[in-house]
Amino acid sequence: MSILLADSHAHLDMPEFARDQAAVVARAEEAGVGLIINVGIGLDHSRQVLTTARKFPGVFATLGVHPHGVKSLHDRDLEALSVLARDSKVVAVGEIGLDFYRMRSPEAVQRQWFGRQLEWAYGLGKPVVIHTRDATAATLGILRDQKRWLRGGVMHCFGGSYEEARAFLDLGLYLSFSGTLTYPAAGPLREVAKKLPLDRVLVETDAPYLPPQPWRGKRNEPAYVTATARLLAALYGISPEEVARRTWENTRTAFGLDWPPKTEDRKPKTET
Ligand SMILES: [Zn+2]
Ligand SMILES: [Zn+2]
Repeated sequence: MSILLADSHAHLDMPEFARDQAAVVARAEEAGVGLIINVGIGLDHSRQVLTTARKFPGVFATLGVHPHGVKSLHDRDLEALSVLARDSKVVAVGEIGLDFYRMRSPEAVQRQWFGRQLEWAYGLGKPVVIHTRDATAATLGILRDQKRWLRGGVMHCFGGSYEEARAFLDLGLYLSFSGTLTYPAAGPLREVAKKLPLDRVLVETDAPYLPPQPWRGKRNEPAYVTATARLLAALYGISPEEVARRTWENTRTAFGLDWPPKTEDRKPKTET
């Protein structure tokens, strides 16, 4: 089976991968995962994420500050990240958003910096990677208010209702499914996934977190995105290869990626 898959959201620079990062990327490639979006969560972390992206051809970076970390954020920090964002390996701003579950930054501060980072992404001409937890209504409210600052992006680790999915799609965003889609308790989410247009859906691991069912309790890694793609294929009644191909193209479109540079080369040769 030849498969080419994109993991639209992983954290290769978490301490969990400090000792074997290169082996993790190699295992992903062996599993057919040839494209990984390595997502930043803070200032120093974003620098590291970019350094890693520069090391591996199939790894790209996003820069941004997760809602957990915005309580200590300053305008000058975004200016510093703007310099890094000029690198061709930087494809988006993120992950940004709201997390009212852990509430590690005060709600008002989270709202303020979500808005500011949306505006910042617009200025950079980048799409955004959005994190929302126990905060869907507030996230939608801010996105609608600031729609003028949106240049597309991804709602990562989507876990909401069909109505919520539609609302994010209507804002021009893509929806990314993580390994949580494979969990026994995720029946309602699978029903939502079935109804979504496949040209707006991505798959991700959010590694090292949220391993798909076969690896629950272990460290997650990009190679395991295959399990989520296989499940999505079963839901849509199509082959895993087709899901891989479609989500690969969606990931490229969502992040405005011209990689690998010539897609024609990957198509089977036909007689002319
Ligand atoms: Zn997240
Ligand atoms: Zn994440």
